[in-house]
Amino acid sequence: MAQPPSSHETDIPASSRRVSVLLPMPFAGAFDYAAPAHMALQPGDIVSVPLGKRLETGVVWDQAPDLPPDLAFATDTKPVPASRLRPVSARLDLPPLNAELRRFVNWVAAYTLSPPGMVLAMTLRQPMQGVPAPSMGWLPAPLPETLRLTPARQKVLSVLGKGPPRTTTDLANAAGVGAAVIRGLADAGALRPVRLDPGHAFATPNPDHCPPVLEGAQLEAAQALRANVREGGFSVTLLEGVTGSGKTEIYQEAVAACLKTGRQVLVLLPEIALSAQWMERFARRFGVPPAIWHSEIGQKARRQTWLGTADGAVQVVVGARSALFLPFEALGLIIVDEEHEPLFKQEEGVLYNARDMAVLRGRLAGVPVILASATPSLETLANVEAGRYRHLVLPTRHGGAALPETRLLDLRDHPPPRGLFLSPVLRDEIAATLERQEQAMLFLNRRGYAPLTLCRACGHRMECPHCTSWLVEHRARQVLSCHYCDTTQPLPTSCPACNAENSLTAIGPGIERITEEARELFPDARILVMSSDTLGGPKATAAAIEKISRREADLIIGTQVVAKGWHFPHLTLVGVVDADLGLGGADLRAGERTIQLLHQVAGRAGRAEAPGRVLLQSYMPEHPVMQALLSGDFDSFMAQEAAQRKPGFWPPYGRLAALVVSAAEAQAADQAAAMLGRAAPYGEGIQVLGPAPAPLALLRGRHRRRLLLRTRRSIAVQPILRRWLAAVDLGRAVRVDVDIDPVSF
Ligand code: ADP
Ligand code: ZN
Repeated sequence: MAQPPSSHETDIPASSRRVSVLLPMPFAGAFDYAAPAHMALQPGDIVSVPLGKRLETGVVWDQAPDLPPDLAFATDTKPVPASRLRPVSARLDLPPLNAELRRFVNWVAAYTLSPPGMVLAMTLRQPMQGVPAPSMGWLPAPLPETLRLTPARQKVLSVLGKGPPRTTTDLANAAGVGAAVIRGLADAGALRPVRLDPGHAFATPNPDHCPPVLEGAQLEAAQALRANVREGGFSVTLLEGVTGSGKTEIYQEAVAACLKTGRQVLVLLPEIALSAQWMERFARRFGVPPAIWHSEIGQKARRQTWLGTADGAVQVVVGARSALFLPFEALGLIIVDEEHEPLFKQEEGVLYNARDMAVLRGRLAGVPVILASATPSLETLANVEAGRYRHLVLPTRHGGAALPETRLLDLRDHPPPRGLFLSPVLRDEIAATLERQEQAMLFLNRRGYAPLTLCRACGHRMECPHCTSWLVEHRARQVLSCHYCDTTQPLPTSCPACNAENSLTAIGPGIERITEEARELFPDARILVMSSDTLGGPKATAAAIEKISRREADLIIGTQVVAKGWHFPHLTLVGVVDADLGLGGADLRAGERTIQLLHQVAGRAGRAEAPGRVLLQSYMPEHPVMQALLSGDFDSFMAQEAAQRKPGFWPPYGRLAALVVSAAEAQAADQAAAMLGRAAPYGEGIQVLGPAPAPLALLRGRHRRRLLLRTRRSIAVQPILRRWLAAVDLGRAVRVDVDIDPVSF
């Protein structure tokens, strides 16, 4: 591929070789550099190369011979003449990225239509979470014969002498020279880079530390998974079982089997489910905690875990979706817990679903993948039905614990008092639960005080100026805030439209408002509020979970944070304030999502001896979602969902990609969308829907239009999209985001 713009030319000895280096940046492909004669470079080596006036870290890249033709991306192959190539500055003392990981990066890039460098960035840089690059130092290397020894260079070499390695800055200061001198010496091969971090010793999990006693369906499932792991090779198994049936317990048996083969394990969890609780449980089973990987871990732990996965010192990593891009030396098993979770979809940068990419990584690495869920996604069920995935079922809760008894509260028959949101039946249930010294939980998936603020005088609604959304009142902070762009303004005292004083009214509940109501009703209860506003991240979440386990709270009020796989032994009542929330709107996936979320919430109740109860407040108790939650018959519900999606070839029975066109001006967005519409692909089994306003037609000040490309399963969308996008020139003012397998449609 082309050479980056160079600021100065360097003489390259004729003996140097040409290498391709992929940089963790949004370029279309890798760049060519010259490998100096003294530097033996292999694909996967992590190197430092000049780009413009800076040095960047990249990876020696080979072309991907094994990409299937419909995924292969075109690279601009006009080679730069050898005389104009700039040399690689240094090979860093880091474990090289192995061929399996390089293939994975290529595939993810090709599948998501993202620049490969952006995918590499997730491996190398973990862009939002800091740099895993270790601190590097220099040691003297045998002096190349051609080296010109200037006085400055001599000073550097004598400072370095036989002492310990020093960093660039440290060395430059000690020798009284500029950093350029050091770089010059490094370029010439007179310095050798070394890693300054000491290696980190990770405790070794012991597969036989404390295995559970298994029988019946648990034993069968564990045996099947162990056999899978021992045989090795790619396979996908859906481990399905109601909450509390022992899924975690069983997949830990697969972890144990993998540890015995000496290979590494990756367990993916939705970020907020990465809890102290899970780690403790792992430690009880294996004697030591696993390595963890999520957005909050510190630089040092990040570096150690990255290096440890690469050199094999780390045997089990439990992480959020970004852990998928760690450089495992010898991966042997991948587990995705809560596989149905929409949180596995990354919605910024490279748009990918970690569940799907985990299956891809498993396939490329030739290792088994386990997907666990109480409410599997329709995608996964369809793969089971088609015989692509194996299926193991744990039909009952462990130890005979009963599933919670579910009751629907028709709000038309049991209306809450005016201006309040808890029906008398739910209040009484909470009161009785607290009376018995048991814990109760109220669930409402909405942050803030009220989702809508309306002027009683003129009907004006407080709207975000940058997004198609209402501003949400946060009463504790006295502000209105947009949940899409975070625009925040003080709560006005008069209506901005008609100037009426004190006319603004909060409409509908958020959890702050439910908390206010609960405080009035249960003044003596210790209330714990759990939402991303009160918790921030995994650490604070873990602390709150601990508090609940230690019975330091009586009533828990939370958003979806509370719905994850927590084990609350003292919780016996769950009240869902608005079970209908999420069923409005046109999204075909709304029913599936709502049932998954509510089942998960309900599953928090009664996980120990005391039986659990769940109350769902709803205005539409006849809705199939409510009926399925009542009967617990998800299979029939999912069969109905499947029947609805099959005829139109909606996912998972067809393939779908979204093109979101956005621009600062509505007209530009409309024009670009229309242009794409006119160039739309057509053919047997290919359909384009739209352009239409995107679900958030205005987001962060950009007007958004959406086109959906839907094809039969046998037709890949990537080549169609590539041709389509190449056929139109939309100009610089317009951005197009490609979302393969969008979560909502
Ligand atoms: P799930 O992941 O399906 O929600 P878990 O694996 O968390 O289920 O199991 C629920 C509870 O039952 C946990 O406290 C777990 O330790 C316990 N449990 C499950 N199976 C066993 C077993 N075979 N022996 C002992 N405890 C078990
Ligand atoms: Zn906004």
